[in-house]
Amino acid sequence: MDMAKRAFLSVVIVSCAVLTGCTTLYNPATGKNEFILINSKTEVALGANMVPLLTQQHPLLNEKDFQERVSRLGRRIAAASDRKDIEYKFFVLDSKELNAVTLPGGLIYVNKGLMEILSDSELAYVLAHEVGHVAARHIVKKIQSNMAYQLVLTAAFAGAGDKGAKSVENIARGVDIAYALIDLSYSRKDEFEADRLSVKYALKAGFDPCACLEALEKIRKTEGPQWKALKYFRTHPYVDERIAAIRKEIPTSVTCGSKP
Ligand SMILES: [Zn+2]
Repeated sequence: MDMAKRAFLSVVIVSCAVLTGCTTLYNPATGKNEFILINSKTEVALGANMVPLLTQQHPLLNEKDFQERVSRLGRRIAAASDRKDIEYKFFVLDSKELNAVTLPGGLIYVNKGLMEILSDSELAYVLAHEVGHVAARHIVKKIQSNMAYQLVLTAAFAGAGDKGAKSVENIARGVDIAYALIDLSYSRKDEFEADRLSVKYALKAGFDPCACLEALEKIRKTEGPQWKALKYFRTHPYVDERIAAIRKEIPTSVTCGSKP
């Protein structure tokens, strides 16, 4: 971190200390104390604002069977999550592309095409991976770490006075929603963390943890050697290394079919 950024962060932290609404908190999903500037209420508001942008491009699927299936599996995974201060909601997008996307605040969208090729426990893995991103607060931490975003928040603190927390919330709602939308991809570290959590949540919810491996293998096989062109692996890359890392997370008492 360069000096300007460090000085800047200390301004934010000091500003934060005099306000309610942001604090350091222990995150059981990551096992770390984290400085969270965007609280859960603001995160939910950010996500809600992004829904129309997403569903204009990718309409929701209006099929009861698909919606019921994703909700039923999603509820079980959500109950196993480390993060319970938000309500997870699961939706299906009318798209053949193999993909899943999560908006801030626990709004999880799976494409019809992905649901069609996965069994229940494999789909549960995909949902658990997305819930893992939410529980670890990957999106908000990513937005927070953006310098421009912090500058705007600091401007908000400076002019906010004792109504600070409310103003910050309003500004967070309006600012750079487009930035967040175009940048819903995750770092390599985040992907591995979401996978680790997916095995944890799938096991806790009573699903076969081997399905975590099988889902990734199945998505890859669907397009043979062209798998790197698949949307799922463009938004969730590093598949070979992830499969290897997931194997290590699965308890040794469990023997998966494809385990060497
Ligand atoms: Zn991911």
